[in-house]
Amino acid sequence: MKTKMSPIKYILLAALCFIKPPGGSPADVPIHRSDFLLNTFVDIAIYDSRDESILDGAMALCREYENRFSRTLSGSEVYRLNHREDATGTYPLSDDMTDLLATALYYCERSGGAFDITTEPLSSLWNFSGTSPSVPPAEAIEEARKKVDYKKLRLDGTRSTLTFLDPGTSIDLGAIAKGYIADQLKAYLLDSGVESAMINLGGNVLCVGSRPDGTPFTVGLQKPFADRNETFAQVEVSDLSVVASGVYERHFVEDGKNYHHILDPKTGYPVQNGLISVTIVCDQGYLADGLSTACFVLGMDAAKPLLEKYDAEAVFVDEDKNVYVTSGLMDKFELMKDG
Ligand code: ADP
Ligand code: MG
Repeated sequence: MKTKMSPIKYILLAALCFIKPPGGSPADVPIHRSDFLLNTFVDIAIYDSRDESILDGAMALCREYENRFSRTLSGSEVYRLNHREDATGTYPLSDDMTDLLATALYYCERSGGAFDITTEPLSSLWNFSGTSPSVPPAEAIEEARKKVDYKKLRLDGTRSTLTFLDPGTSIDLGAIAKGYIADQLKAYLLDSGVESAMINLGGNVLCVGSRPDGTPFTVGLQKPFADRNETFAQVEVSDLSVVASGVYERHFVEDGKNYHHILDPKTGYPVQNGLISVTIVCDQGYLADGLSTACFVLGMDAAKPLLEKYDAEAVFVDEDKNVYVTSGLMDKFELMKDG
Protein backbone atom coordinates (compact mmCIF):
# COMPACT_ATOMS: atom_id res chain seq x y z
CA MET A 1 0.00 0.00 0.00
CA LYS A 2 1.39 3.40 -1.00
CA THR A 3 1.75 6.13 1.57
CA LYS A 4 2.04 9.79 0.87
CA MET A 5 5.37 11.53 1.28
CA SER A 6 3.79 14.41 3.11
CA PRO A 7 0.69 14.44 5.29
CA ILE A 8 -2.52 15.48 3.61
CA LYS A 9 -3.15 19.18 3.76
CA TYR A 10 -6.49 20.74 3.02
CA ILE A 11 -6.53 23.97 1.10
CA LEU A 12 -9.47 26.27 1.65
CA LEU A 13 -10.73 27.94 -1.49
CA ALA A 14 -12.82 31.10 -1.52
CA ALA A 15 -16.45 30.91 -0.43
CA LEU A 16 -18.38 29.42 -3.20
CA CYS A 17 -20.66 30.76 -5.89
CA PHE A 18 -22.01 27.99 -8.05
CA ILE A 19 -22.40 28.59 -11.77
CA LYS A 20 -22.86 26.45 -14.85
CA PRO A 21 -19.69 25.06 -16.43
CA PRO A 22 -18.53 26.08 -19.89
CA GLY A 23 -19.59 23.77 -22.73
CA GLY A 24 -17.49 20.63 -23.32
CA SER A 25 -15.24 19.98 -26.28
CA PRO A 26 -17.15 18.76 -29.36
CA ALA A 27 -14.08 16.77 -30.50
CA ASP A 28 -14.98 13.36 -29.06
CA VAL A 29 -18.36 11.84 -29.78
CA PRO A 30 -18.61 8.48 -28.03
CA ILE A 31 -21.08 5.65 -28.49
CA HIS A 32 -23.02 5.38 -25.27
CA ARG A 33 -25.87 3.63 -23.51
CA SER A 34 -28.06 4.84 -20.64
CA ASP A 35 -30.55 3.05 -18.45
CA PHE A 36 -32.12 3.21 -15.00
CA LEU A 37 -30.20 0.52 -13.14
CA LEU A 38 -28.77 0.11 -9.62
CA ASN A 39 -31.57 2.42 -8.52
CA THR A 40 -29.95 5.29 -10.42
CA PHE A 41 -29.15 6.68 -13.85
CA VAL A 42 -26.39 4.65 -15.49
CA ASP A 43 -24.46 5.84 -18.56
CA ILE A 44 -21.53 4.15 -20.24
CA ALA A 45 -19.65 5.94 -23.04
CA ILE A 46 -16.96 4.39 -25.25
CA TYR A 47 -14.66 6.72 -27.18
CA ASP A 48 -12.39 4.40 -29.14
CA SER A 49 -14.77 1.78 -30.58
CA ARG A 50 -18.06 1.80 -32.50
CA ASP A 51 -18.98 -1.74 -31.40
CA GLU A 52 -22.43 -1.48 -29.79
CA SER A 53 -22.30 -5.09 -28.62
CA ILE A 54 -19.69 -4.05 -26.03
CA LEU A 55 -22.28 -1.67 -24.58
CA ASP A 56 -24.88 -4.49 -24.56
CA GLY A 57 -22.41 -6.61 -22.57
CA ALA A 58 -21.68 -3.77 -20.13
CA MET A 59 -25.36 -3.20 -19.40
CA ALA A 60 -25.91 -6.94 -18.93
CA LEU A 61 -23.01 -7.01 -16.47
CA CYS A 62 -24.53 -4.12 -14.56
CA ARG A 63 -27.80 -6.04 -14.22
CA GLU A 64 -25.91 -9.12 -13.07
CA TYR A 65 -24.22 -7.15 -10.29
CA GLU A 66 -27.45 -5.47 -9.32
CA ASN A 67 -28.82 -8.98 -8.83
CA ARG A 68 -25.97 -9.70 -6.48
CA PHE A 69 -25.59 -6.57 -4.37
CA SER A 70 -29.07 -5.03 -4.25
CA ARG A 71 -30.59 -4.80 -0.80
CA THR A 72 -34.14 -4.67 -2.18
CA LEU A 73 -34.25 -7.09 -5.14
CA SER A 74 -35.59 -10.37 -3.81
CA GLY A 75 -33.24 -13.18 -4.78
CA SER A 76 -30.10 -11.03 -4.77
CA GLU A 77 -27.16 -12.39 -2.79
CA VAL A 78 -27.53 -9.61 -0.21
CA TYR A 79 -31.29 -10.17 0.00
CA ARG A 80 -30.81 -13.89 0.58
CA LEU A 81 -28.26 -13.24 3.32
CA ASN A 82 -30.62 -10.75 4.97
CA HIS A 83 -33.58 -13.13 4.70
CA ARG A 84 -31.61 -16.12 5.88
CA GLU A 85 -33.23 -19.16 7.43
CA ASP A 86 -30.74 -19.62 10.23
CA ALA A 87 -30.62 -16.26 12.00
CA THR A 88 -27.13 -16.74 13.42
CA GLY A 89 -25.76 -19.13 10.83
CA THR A 90 -22.74 -19.23 8.50
CA TYR A 91 -23.30 -18.68 4.78
CA PRO A 92 -21.15 -19.22 1.67
CA LEU A 93 -20.34 -16.11 -0.36
CA SER A 94 -19.48 -15.43 -3.98
CA ASP A 95 -15.90 -14.29 -4.57
CA ASP A 96 -17.14 -10.79 -5.41
CA MET A 97 -19.05 -10.58 -2.16
CA THR A 98 -16.06 -11.80 -0.13
CA ASP A 99 -13.86 -9.20 -1.80
CA LEU A 100 -16.25 -6.36 -1.24
CA LEU A 101 -17.08 -7.29 2.36
CA ALA A 102 -13.40 -7.44 3.27
CA THR A 103 -12.85 -3.80 2.26
CA ALA A 104 -16.18 -2.66 3.63
CA LEU A 105 -15.43 -4.19 7.03
CA TYR A 106 -12.04 -2.51 7.05
CA TYR A 107 -13.78 0.88 6.60
CA CYS A 108 -16.13 -0.04 9.42
CA GLU A 109 -13.19 -0.67 11.74
CA ARG A 110 -11.13 2.32 10.66
CA SER A 111 -14.07 4.67 11.07
CA GLY A 112 -14.88 3.32 14.52
CA GLY A 113 -18.30 2.26 13.25
CA ALA A 114 -19.25 5.64 11.73
CA PHE A 115 -19.28 3.74 8.47
CA ASP A 116 -21.24 0.56 9.07
CA ILE A 117 -22.50 -1.91 6.46
CA THR A 118 -25.12 -3.23 8.87
CA THR A 119 -27.18 -0.03 8.57
CA GLU A 120 -29.83 -2.04 6.70
CA PRO A 121 -32.50 -1.87 9.45
CA LEU A 122 -32.10 1.93 9.46
CA SER A 123 -31.94 2.41 5.67
CA SER A 124 -35.03 0.24 5.22
CA LEU A 125 -36.86 2.19 7.90
CA TRP A 126 -35.98 5.63 6.47
CA ASN A 127 -36.56 4.34 2.92
CA PHE A 128 -35.18 7.40 1.14
CA SER A 129 -35.84 5.92 -2.29
CA GLY A 130 -39.52 5.31 -1.50
CA THR A 131 -42.28 7.45 -3.05
CA SER A 132 -43.00 9.68 -0.05
CA PRO A 133 -40.38 9.22 2.66
CA SER A 134 -40.97 10.83 6.05
CA VAL A 135 -39.25 10.88 9.45
CA PRO A 136 -39.97 7.52 11.13
CA PRO A 137 -41.20 7.43 14.75
CA ALA A 138 -38.38 7.89 17.29
CA GLU A 139 -39.06 4.47 18.89
CA ALA A 140 -38.74 2.72 15.54
CA ILE A 141 -35.45 4.52 14.85
CA GLU A 142 -34.15 3.49 18.26
CA GLU A 143 -35.24 -0.10 17.67
CA ALA A 144 -33.46 -0.25 14.28
CA ARG A 145 -30.38 1.56 15.57
CA LYS A 146 -29.77 -1.12 18.19
CA LYS A 147 -29.43 -3.72 15.44
CA VAL A 148 -26.62 -1.84 13.68
CA ASP A 149 -23.23 -3.27 14.55
CA TYR A 150 -20.73 -4.57 12.03
CA LYS A 151 -18.98 -6.50 14.83
CA LYS A 152 -21.85 -8.96 14.64
CA LEU A 153 -20.47 -10.10 11.28
CA ARG A 154 -17.59 -12.58 10.92
CA LEU A 155 -16.04 -12.78 7.49
CA ASP A 156 -13.84 -15.74 6.69
CA GLY A 157 -11.93 -14.63 3.62
CA THR A 158 -10.23 -17.98 3.10
CA ARG A 159 -13.38 -20.03 3.17
CA SER A 160 -15.51 -17.27 1.64
CA THR A 161 -18.16 -17.43 4.33
CA LEU A 162 -20.05 -14.91 6.41
CA THR A 163 -21.31 -15.66 9.90
CA PHE A 164 -24.07 -13.64 11.54
CA LEU A 165 -23.62 -13.53 15.31
CA ASP A 166 -26.91 -11.77 15.93
CA PRO A 167 -30.34 -12.55 14.50
CA GLY A 168 -31.12 -8.84 13.98
CA THR A 169 -28.08 -8.09 11.80
CA SER A 170 -28.54 -7.40 8.10
CA ILE A 171 -26.34 -5.75 5.51
CA ASP A 172 -26.60 -2.79 3.14
CA LEU A 173 -23.80 -2.32 0.61
CA GLY A 174 -25.30 0.86 -0.86
CA ALA A 175 -22.30 2.91 0.21
CA ILE A 176 -19.74 0.89 -1.70
CA ALA A 177 -21.32 -1.46 -4.27
CA LYS A 178 -21.57 0.97 -7.18
CA GLY A 179 -17.86 1.67 -7.05
CA TYR A 180 -17.10 -2.03 -7.05
CA ILE A 181 -19.42 -2.56 -10.02
CA ALA A 182 -17.68 0.30 -11.87
CA ASP A 183 -14.37 -1.53 -11.37
CA GLN A 184 -15.83 -4.73 -12.82
CA LEU A 185 -17.21 -2.80 -15.80
CA LYS A 186 -13.79 -1.29 -16.38
CA ALA A 187 -12.16 -4.75 -16.38
CA TYR A 188 -14.78 -5.94 -18.88
CA LEU A 189 -14.19 -2.95 -21.18
CA LEU A 190 -10.41 -3.44 -21.10
CA ASP A 191 -10.94 -7.14 -21.90
CA SER A 192 -13.05 -6.05 -24.85
CA GLY A 193 -10.18 -3.94 -26.19
CA VAL A 194 -11.59 -0.59 -25.05
CA GLU A 195 -9.01 1.86 -23.75
CA SER A 196 -10.98 5.08 -23.62
CA ALA A 197 -14.34 5.13 -21.85
CA MET A 198 -16.36 6.82 -19.15
CA ILE A 199 -18.50 4.80 -16.73
CA ASN A 200 -21.08 6.85 -14.85
CA LEU A 201 -23.22 5.02 -12.31
CA GLY A 202 -25.41 7.84 -11.01
CA GLY A 203 -22.55 10.26 -10.41
CA ASN A 204 -20.19 7.51 -9.42
CA VAL A 205 -17.68 8.06 -12.23
CA LEU A 206 -14.81 5.87 -13.39
CA CYS A 207 -12.65 6.91 -16.32
CA VAL A 208 -11.02 4.20 -18.39
CA GLY A 209 -7.77 5.62 -19.79
CA SER A 210 -7.96 9.13 -21.17
CA ARG A 211 -9.68 10.71 -24.14
CA PRO A 212 -8.67 9.30 -27.55
CA ASP A 213 -6.30 12.22 -28.15
CA GLY A 214 -4.51 11.42 -24.87
CA THR A 215 -5.84 14.41 -22.94
CA PRO A 216 -7.56 13.76 -19.59
CA PHE A 217 -11.32 13.52 -19.14
CA THR A 218 -13.04 16.42 -17.43
CA VAL A 219 -15.42 15.38 -14.66
CA GLY A 220 -17.82 18.00 -13.32
CA LEU A 221 -18.62 17.99 -9.61
CA GLN A 222 -22.33 18.41 -9.14
CA LYS A 223 -23.59 21.59 -7.58
CA PRO A 224 -25.38 20.60 -4.35
CA PHE A 225 -29.18 20.86 -4.46
CA ALA A 226 -29.15 21.74 -8.18
CA ASP A 227 -29.88 19.95 -11.46
CA ARG A 228 -27.62 17.06 -12.32
CA ASN A 229 -25.97 19.00 -15.14
CA GLU A 230 -24.97 21.97 -12.95
CA THR A 231 -21.46 21.77 -11.60
CA PHE A 232 -19.48 23.88 -9.14
CA ALA A 233 -16.05 22.58 -10.04
CA GLN A 234 -14.29 20.19 -12.35
CA VAL A 235 -11.36 17.80 -12.18
CA GLU A 236 -9.13 16.59 -14.99
CA VAL A 237 -8.55 12.87 -14.67
CA SER A 238 -7.19 9.87 -16.54
CA ASP A 239 -7.73 6.33 -15.31
CA LEU A 240 -9.21 7.54 -12.04
CA SER A 241 -12.50 7.32 -10.23
CA VAL A 242 -14.43 10.36 -9.00
CA VAL A 243 -17.24 9.69 -6.53
CA ALA A 244 -19.34 12.06 -4.45
CA SER A 245 -21.56 11.59 -1.41
CA GLY A 246 -23.88 14.40 -0.47
CA VAL A 247 -26.87 15.52 1.55
CA TYR A 248 -28.79 16.34 -1.65
CA GLU A 249 -28.72 12.90 -3.34
CA ARG A 250 -31.53 10.96 -1.73
CA HIS A 251 -33.21 13.29 0.68
CA PHE A 252 -36.47 14.94 1.68
CA VAL A 253 -37.46 18.04 3.59
CA GLU A 254 -39.86 17.85 6.52
CA ASP A 255 -40.79 20.86 8.65
CA GLY A 256 -38.06 22.85 6.91
CA LYS A 257 -35.34 20.35 7.78
CA ASN A 258 -33.32 18.36 5.27
CA TYR A 259 -33.09 14.60 5.90
CA HIS A 260 -30.58 12.71 3.75
CA HIS A 261 -29.55 9.11 3.26
CA ILE A 262 -26.15 9.01 4.98
CA LEU A 263 -27.03 7.85 8.44
CA ASP A 264 -25.19 8.13 11.72
CA PRO A 265 -25.25 4.64 13.26
CA LYS A 266 -24.87 6.22 16.71
CA THR A 267 -28.07 8.27 16.52
CA GLY A 268 -30.06 6.53 13.78
CA TYR A 269 -30.59 9.94 12.12
CA PRO A 270 -28.90 11.49 9.07
CA VAL A 271 -25.32 12.63 9.76
CA GLN A 272 -25.17 16.29 10.71
CA ASN A 273 -21.62 17.55 10.81
CA GLY A 274 -21.70 20.71 8.74
CA LEU A 275 -20.70 18.99 5.50
CA ILE A 276 -22.87 18.97 2.41
CA SER A 277 -20.69 16.92 0.10
CA VAL A 278 -17.52 14.89 -0.07
CA THR A 279 -15.91 13.91 -3.37
CA ILE A 280 -13.12 11.35 -3.59
CA VAL A 281 -10.63 10.96 -6.43
CA CYS A 282 -8.58 7.77 -6.46
CA ASP A 283 -7.56 4.94 -8.72
CA GLN A 284 -10.22 2.37 -7.88
CA GLY A 285 -13.96 2.72 -7.94
CA TYR A 286 -14.75 0.71 -4.84
CA LEU A 287 -12.23 2.67 -2.79
CA ALA A 288 -13.58 5.98 -4.04
CA ASP A 289 -17.17 4.96 -3.31
CA GLY A 290 -16.52 3.54 0.14
CA LEU A 291 -14.31 6.49 1.05
CA SER A 292 -16.86 9.06 -0.10
CA THR A 293 -19.37 7.75 2.41
CA ALA A 294 -16.85 6.93 5.16
CA CYS A 295 -15.18 10.36 4.93
CA PHE A 296 -18.55 12.07 4.90
CA VAL A 297 -19.51 10.37 8.15
CA LEU A 298 -16.10 10.95 9.73
CA GLY A 299 -15.78 14.63 8.83
CA MET A 300 -12.68 16.35 7.48
CA ASP A 301 -10.20 15.84 10.30
CA ALA A 302 -10.95 12.24 11.11
CA ALA A 303 -10.99 11.40 7.38
CA LYS A 304 -7.32 12.32 6.89
CA PRO A 305 -5.71 9.00 7.93
CA LEU A 306 -8.10 7.07 5.73
CA LEU A 307 -7.32 9.28 2.72
CA GLU A 308 -3.61 8.87 3.34
CA LYS A 309 -3.89 5.13 3.73
CA TYR A 310 -5.50 4.81 0.29
CA ASP A 311 -3.55 7.58 -1.43
CA ALA A 312 -6.85 9.28 -2.21
CA GLU A 313 -7.64 12.94 -2.84
CA ALA A 314 -10.79 14.68 -1.68
CA VAL A 315 -12.99 17.75 -2.03
CA PHE A 316 -15.16 18.72 0.95
CA VAL A 317 -17.94 21.31 0.76
CA ASP A 318 -19.44 22.64 3.98
CA GLU A 319 -22.75 24.33 4.72
CA ASP A 320 -21.19 27.78 4.27
CA LYS A 321 -20.20 26.71 0.76
CA ASN A 322 -16.51 26.63 1.62
CA VAL A 323 -14.62 24.19 -0.57
CA TYR A 324 -11.65 22.29 0.86
CA VAL A 325 -9.38 20.42 -1.54
CA THR A 326 -6.50 18.11 -0.64
CA SER A 327 -3.18 19.56 -1.80
CA GLY A 328 -2.48 16.63 -4.16
CA LEU A 329 -5.57 17.44 -6.23
CA MET A 330 -4.99 21.16 -6.70
CA ASP A 331 -3.31 20.94 -10.10
CA LYS A 332 -6.18 18.89 -11.52
CA PHE A 333 -8.99 20.86 -9.87
CA GLU A 334 -10.78 23.94 -11.14
CA LEU A 335 -13.47 25.86 -9.32
CA MET A 336 -16.06 27.43 -11.61
CA LYS A 337 -15.67 31.18 -11.61
CA ASP A 338 -18.33 33.45 -10.16
CA GLY A 339 -20.73 34.24 -13.00
P1 ADP B 1 -24.95 7.00 -3.24
O1 ADP B 1 -25.91 5.91 -2.92
O2 ADP B 1 -25.60 8.26 -3.71
O3 ADP B 1 -23.82 6.55 -4.09
P2 ADP B 1 -23.26 6.83 -0.91
O4 ADP B 1 -22.18 6.12 -1.64
O5 ADP B 1 -22.82 7.90 0.02
O6 ADP B 1 -24.31 7.48 -1.87
O7 ADP B 1 -24.04 5.73 -0.08
C1 ADP B 1 -25.14 6.04 0.72
C2 ADP B 1 -25.83 4.74 1.02
O8 ADP B 1 -25.04 3.98 1.94
C3 ADP B 1 -27.18 4.89 1.69
O9 ADP B 1 -28.20 4.99 0.75
C4 ADP B 1 -27.26 3.61 2.53
O10 ADP B 1 -27.65 2.54 1.70
C5 ADP B 1 -25.83 3.38 2.95
N1 ADP B 1 -25.46 4.05 4.22
C6 ADP B 1 -26.08 5.06 4.87
N2 ADP B 1 -25.43 5.43 5.98
C7 ADP B 1 -24.34 4.61 6.05
C8 ADP B 1 -23.27 4.48 6.99
N3 ADP B 1 -23.17 5.25 8.08
N4 ADP B 1 -22.35 3.53 6.73
C9 ADP B 1 -22.42 2.74 5.65
N5 ADP B 1 -23.40 2.80 4.75
C10 ADP B 1 -24.35 3.73 4.93
MG1 MG C 1 -20.15 5.82 -1.25
